[in-house]
Amino acid sequence: HKITIAIDGFSSTGKSTIAKQLAAALGYIYVDTGAMYRAVTLYALHHGLISEDGFKASELCLKLKDIQLGFLPNEQTGRSDMLLNGKNVETEIRTMQVSRFVSQVATVKAVREKLVAIQQEMGKAKGIVMDGRDIGTVVFPHAELKLFMTASADARATRRYRELLERGDNITYGEVLENVQKRDYIDSNREESPLRRADDAILFDNSDMGLKEQFERIYNLAIR
Ligand code: C5P
Repeated sequence: HKITIAIDGFSSTGKSTIAKQLAAALGYIYVDTGAMYRAVTLYALHHGLISEDGFKASELCLKLKDIQLGFLPNEQTGRSDMLLNGKNVETEIRTMQVSRFVSQVATVKAVREKLVAIQQEMGKAKGIVMDGRDIGTVVFPHAELKLFMTASADARATRRYRELLERGDNITYGEVLENVQKRDYIDSNREESPLRRADDAILFDNSDMGLKEQFERIYNLAIR
């Protein structure tokens, strides 16, 4: 029978890579919830709600009803592209500009409520792998399999740095490391649904683990 798999953890621990592979192998749906927080952040950037003056959280709350999120399956990448009000923003949401502000946007209660409701609706379809920060604790507290991914800050920053370089971003390793650490700090210390391991989540440190070994271990847990 099909189950719900919740994958949480720190930034750039390779959650989405594993989640995507797992979903493909099991014939499940894969949902990247970070992409949703990134899309809301992009909307805020486009509408002048984030600027030198700071972040206008209450104005963003008033505009939440105007934000429509969607997913468009992409055969090439094997995952879905993020749609913001009908526009494909998959590339734009991965930029450093969005990474800089997303954790602040993710502290806003009304933002979380809106996204969690969408995620729970998607979860009604059994056979789902969802990754994020609060999936095992808030979105699907009854998920049959929960994983909590972690790795050293250096291993994580190196991964993200390579990804950004491949995309052609003009960035230094130091900037990436700082961003990863800052996001983890904000995510772990916020009032609303802070990032933490659910009591029944399996801890996975993949600092020194190859993708193949990781996948095999997790796949075996999923089909148990
Ligand atoms: O997964 P990703 O690194 O793309 O997520 C970007 C940010 O979105 C995280 O650093 C976190 O602030 C926020 N997020 C969240 N809850 C989730 C998924 C992401 O707060 N379920």
